[in-house]
Amino acid sequence: MASISEIRCNGCGQIIGRLVDVDGQQWLQVGQVIARSCHGVCAKCGHVFNWHIADWMLAELAKKVLQNRESMLQLEQKSE
Ligand SMILES: [Zn+2]
Repeated sequence: MASISEIRCNGCGQIIGRLVDVDGQQWLQVGQVIARSCHGVCAKCGHVFNWHIADWMLAELAKKVLQNRESMLQLEQKSE
């Protein structure tokens, strides 16, 4: 199973970087650089890569909300 901390290219799935925690804040590490946003192209397939910490955090929040909703629905179905 892929680690949640790996950030991959949307085109080919190549690992572009990984999330690192610095004093409770998430940063993207690409090589020896850590950044809050990163824009460029995948070195493997040329797919445009646009990443920003705010977008990533929003997507993670949405994922959690959807997971919670699913588990609530499953609980409701079991109790019926
Ligand atoms: Zn790629």
